[in-house]
Amino acid sequence: MTRVCVFCGSSRGNRLVYADTARELGRLLGERGIGLVYGGGRVGLMGIVADAALESGAEVTGIITEQLNIAERAHTGVAAMHVERGMHERKAKMAQMSDGFIALPGGFGTLEELLEMTTWTQLTIHDKPCIAVNVDGYYDALFAQFERGLQDGFIRAEHRIAVSQVATPAAALDAIAAWKTGMVKNPFAVLP
Ligand code: AMP
Repeated sequence: MTRVCVFCGSSRGNRLVYADTARELGRLLGERGIGLVYGGGRVGLMGIVADAALESGAEVTGIITEQLNIAERAHTGVAAMHVERGMHERKAKMAQMSDGFIALPGGFGTLEELLEMTTWTQLTIHDKPCIAVNVDGYYDALFAQFERGLQDGFIRAEHRIAVSQVATPAAALDAIAAWKTGMVKNPFAVLP
């Protein structure tokens, strides 16, 4: 595994455990020699994970948009900063550069990113794992929704594995390392 993409809040959240978890993930990336790809911000959990990754010696790549690349919000300490025209180009670049995706707690942006990458795995646009770190039960409701989708016939059992939850950053990195390609089948091949 060379690089992982981390999605997380542009806010810190109001429990200390969120910042602690972001710091732990950043530190582990450096310790394990894995590069960080992320949204390029210096605010919220994004900034915390990037700072911790830089401190522990990880290669950090920010991928930001023209709109967000304004001095007070973009991280100025990362060696590589790609400025993409918009969110679509940004996500495509993040996906292309990474071996898997980790979501820490976050808001709409984080949820959208996790679910879009999960959808791309489902569609076999790429074959990469999407892992949510369920800090303090933050993602309980989201995963309950996925189970509802499965039960009610909107999510196929063979696609459900595209996204999983773990309790810790270490487990998230282990899950990406353990991902076997070819497990999610191309839906167009199985549709009647
Ligand atoms: P949220 O989870 O709603 O906080 O959103 C995370 C999203 O915040 C990501 O998609 C980023 O695009 C966006 N974002 C907000 N502020 C920044 C920033 N300063 N730099 C980069 N991305 C940011």
